[in-house]
Amino acid sequence: MPDNKYYDILGVARDASETDIKKAYRKLAIKYHPDKNQDPAAVDKFKEITVAYEVLTDSEKRGIYDKYGEEGLQQNGGGPGFSPDDIFSQFFGGGGFGGGFGGFGGRGGRRERKGEPLQHVLKVSLEDLYKGKISKLALQKNSKCQECDGKGANSKSADAIKKCDDCHGNGIKVQLRSIGPGMVQKLQTQCPTCKGEGNIIREKDRCVKCKGNKTVQEKKTLEVNIDKGMKHAQKIVFSEEGDYESPDIVPGDVIVVLQQKEHPVFTREGDDLVMDHKITLLEALTGFTFYIQHLDGRVLVVKSKPSEILKPGDIKCIYNEGMPGYKRPFEKGRLFIRFDVQFPANGSITPENAKLLEKILPKPKQTPKPVSHDGIDEEVELHAFDPNSKQGHSHSHSRASYDEDDDEGGHPQGVSCAQQ
Ligand SMILES: [Zn+2]
Ligand SMILES: [Zn+2]
Repeated sequence: MPDNKYYDILGVARDASETDIKKAYRKLAIKYHPDKNQDPAAVDKFKEITVAYEVLTDSEKRGIYDKYGEEGLQQNGGGPGFSPDDIFSQFFGGGGFGGGFGGFGGRGGRRERKGEPLQHVLKVSLEDLYKGKISKLALQKNSKCQECDGKGANSKSADAIKKCDDCHGNGIKVQLRSIGPGMVQKLQTQCPTCKGEGNIIREKDRCVKCKGNKTVQEKKTLEVNIDKGMKHAQKIVFSEEGDYESPDIVPGDVIVVLQQKEHPVFTREGDDLVMDHKITLLEALTGFTFYIQHLDGRVLVVKSKPSEILKPGDIKCIYNEGMPGYKRPFEKGRLFIRFDVQFPANGSITPENAKLLEKILPKPKQTPKPVSHDGIDEEVELHAFDPNSKQGHSHSHSRASYDEDDDEGGHPQGVSCAQQ
């Protein structure tokens, strides 16, 4: 029962690419745009195609829609948070066609400027990303003063706000500085009188509440929905929740960037989880049972298969115990376990026990000893390998060094591998 409405509205297939969707939208938008077509049915149609376009070109929203239909979108942050004008201006480069369109709810022409987005890093645990969580983010922000509607003055008196004389309303002062004979540098600075605003509010007309600042400091708590399966560096956008600056600047967005804290046990790789587990040599040979406490608190009992032998570095995987998929929490990734085999310490196997082991473990294959060309066998010594030592030919105890040219140049014989 997949909801196909948005695809039908745009006349595209369910697997249409973003480019196809844009093309389809553009075609329809030209046909139904209110500037061209004042028929109320066309206006509705235009809104409809715009909603479909907005959802299907946003991979996140499209994912939700594909899975849960229109309802899913409404549950997810109150439906599409946009105005058709926004998209349209984005799409056609701002001006629209036929010069200006303010057809929808009158927000049209006033949206040129938007404040800078504000980024907040939110540290989350892997558990949070597994189980989902609502985090509260307290923001101290400048909000529009409701008393004066962000104008800074009581709107009753018309001349309450007057142009700044110092900068002639530009907000900028130009200073000339002499930097040498006949040379002058032009310096632009913010006008100190009006603080770059270009106008001054008469003392007696200043808004009592914000004292002419247009804004009031406000504490706002944002509820950040950390959905199951969200990822490190994923962004959650709170549209226009940034600081209010002035009536003709739309507050910027607040962008919450998730930062996953390292987990002591699990590492995440996409939707999969990876963990290391140490087993003893005995366990590697005879089997084991161990427990994993999962991110939601469940305990997984992991048992080896009967008579299965594990080697160091072996990787096994458990299906459906990885991370939940984002927007599809019932589909989970895999949990990989990398095994490390802990061998007994040097000297811990006595000669008697070695005899016992010989009885149990497979015998080494007997290979015939090669015959040396000069009939002399040499006994050599095994050293610990130090990768930092650059002495590539340092097994020079062996007679081979005498026979070959010493192309390393000047290493005396008998250089040992590594200092132990
Ligand atoms: Zn005010
Ligand atoms: Zn000024």
